[in-house]
Amino acid sequence: MTGWVGGVQVRRTERGQTPIADFLCTACGTYRRVTGRDKVRDFLRANPITDHRAHCPANQKGPTST
Ligand SMILES: [Zn+2]
Repeated sequence: MTGWVGGVQVRRTERGQTPIADFLCTACGTYRRVTGRDKVRDFLRANPITDHRAHCPANQKGPTST
């Protein structure tokens, strides 16, 4: 994962059959993995990054507080 700063990364299994979507928020450390073509498609369609940022605990605190 070197160089991955977070967000959604979609890849496929070695056989190229099953898409895998990894979601990572580097701000709060939330990590999710979705596998399967339909699930990945729905997951991406739901805009997980935007959705998460609205609820991200790291964002709730504010970057400069304390
Ligand atoms: Zn977060």
